[in-house]
Amino acid sequence: MSVSDRRKLFRDPLIQKVIEVILRQENRELTPSYEASKGFYYDKIDEIFGDVYKSELALKQMSDSGILDKKFFDTGVVCPNCRSSQISLLYRCPKCNSAMIESKSLCEHVKCGAIDVIDRFKKEDEYECFQCKASLMEGSSDLKNIGSWFICSSCNFRFDEPLTIQRCMSCKNEFLPKDAKLKSLFLYVMNEAVKSEYERELALLLLLKPEIDKLKSKAEMMSVIQGKSGTSYEFDVATWSKGAKKPTVVDVVMNNEPIGTGPITSMFAKIYDVEPSRQILVAIPDLQEDSVKLAKLYKIEILTAKTMEEAVSKLIAILKD
Ligand SMILES: [Zn+2]
Ligand SMILES: [Zn+2]
Ligand SMILES: [Zn+2]
Repeated sequence: MSVSDRRKLFRDPLIQKVIEVILRQENRELTPSYEASKGFYYDKIDEIFGDVYKSELALKQMSDSGILDKKFFDTGVVCPNCRSSQISLLYRCPKCNSAMIESKSLCEHVKCGAIDVIDRFKKEDEYECFQCKASLMEGSSDLKNIGSWFICSSCNFRFDEPLTIQRCMSCKNEFLPKDAKLKSLFLYVMNEAVKSEYERELALLLLLKPEIDKLKSKAEMMSVIQGKSGTSYEFDVATWSKGAKKPTVVDVVMNNEPIGTGPITSMFAKIYDVEPSRQILVAIPDLQEDSVKLAKLYKIEILTAKTMEEAVSKLIAILKD
């Protein structure tokens, strides 16, 4: 996606909120959270959109357009049936599938080498080795914990790893890890170069909007106008003087260096179809020589300004006429 796609997104108040949230995060990183009752989610973004799917879509648009850089974060498990990420784990006996299993510690009497579950070293309230009958102190280094296992109360099977079953808390489907669907989780960071593009865009909007609202003629920002082919085009500003059917259309381009021919060509493509009465391109700070020639050829009026403030006051002066 191009600069113009980004500009469209920058003007969406909800996208502006998302950007503000990300810029406030530590390292300017937006990472997914997990909660058993919700699954994976981006909490602050969901608050903005009020809907998990809408916020996922917005993050996708923002990364597709280059506003956000998307980085791998983790792999999450989702239900193969309903794709929910609200998954709980269940442990079962691998032989009879019973849920009645217990975890047991396995201990060794170091002096004589007797090994068994801790219960076999217990005699009433005391500890005693079942093999050499030595009395033992609880927690002493003579009685060493050498691991643990599971025992099934239904079939007495002993095992060191239970059968792991995942249960979807949303649709109650139970599935084995091998049948789980995996989902890549991403963290998002603001692209540094695009960040300054955004700040400029927002600053221009803030300056231009109140001035446009003051104009006596009908004026619109981000105006969508249909061309003779039936296709619609967006201009940064469009004004209609009294009784006139054809508008004056304005596009604004900003860059750190003199602007190339790209914006001239794309504006020409739009005005060729829309046929406005007048077309103005505001260029901050300046245009390259080729661009000036091309603009003349296409009958696009050029307005250059060193700063945004200057551009806004020059433009408003023209539009007032
Ligand atoms: Zn499910
Ligand atoms: Zn069993
Ligand atoms: Zn012993």
